[in-house]
Amino acid sequence: MPQNIAPPLIRKIILEQSFRAHVGHIGSALSVSDIIAALYSSVLKITSPNDPNRDRFILSNGHTVLALYAALYLRGWISETELNSYCSDGSYLGVHPEHRVNGVDFCTGSLGQGLPFGAGAALAARFQQSSRRVFVLLSDAECNEGSVWEAVMFAAHHHLSNLIAIIDLNGQQALGYTKNVLNLHPMTEKWKAF
Ligand SMILES: [Mg+2]
Repeated sequence: MPQNIAPPLIRKIILEQSFRAHVGHIGSALSVSDIIAALYSSVLKITSPNDPNRDRFILSNGHTVLALYAALYLRGWISETELNSYCSDGSYLGVHPEHRVNGVDFCTGSLGQGLPFGAGAALAARFQQSSRRVFVLLSDAECNEGSVWEAVMFAAHHHLSNLIAIIDLNGQQALGYTKNVLNLHPMTEKWKAF
């Protein structure tokens, strides 16, 4: 059942958990809050984490995971106790997502791997004649990775219309502005070319 997951609620949890655990990629997580809120409020067709035909979501920029934990908590897929275990000893909730977390299908964190995972998952859905879709969220700087473009070529070749890539085009990365580190402009045209 869709429910309203407002971006301010996600941002509040990101700040609370980062403060409590003294760890977290705060800026990156805040940057994807609106995207995650939209996905988990109304875009993703998801009822239960155990439904084999639910849409898949892959957080390729895994370091933003606090936003995802917040959405999974607000969705009721992880408990408050689990949320509050973020980055504690023995917790599944670390600084990058693990597939052991309810609703997380792929471990991510090594940048450039989410879209290849997603292309495979989209092809698998076709083979299984499932209507499920695969959404992949990437950071803009992650598009520096060659594996992203290999996956785009693969997806275009196989006409994977059930694969949706979303890029958080915030223009920033760890070492500075993306336009200065490795210019990605014009991003839209690059993707359209495939
Ligand atoms: Mg960025």
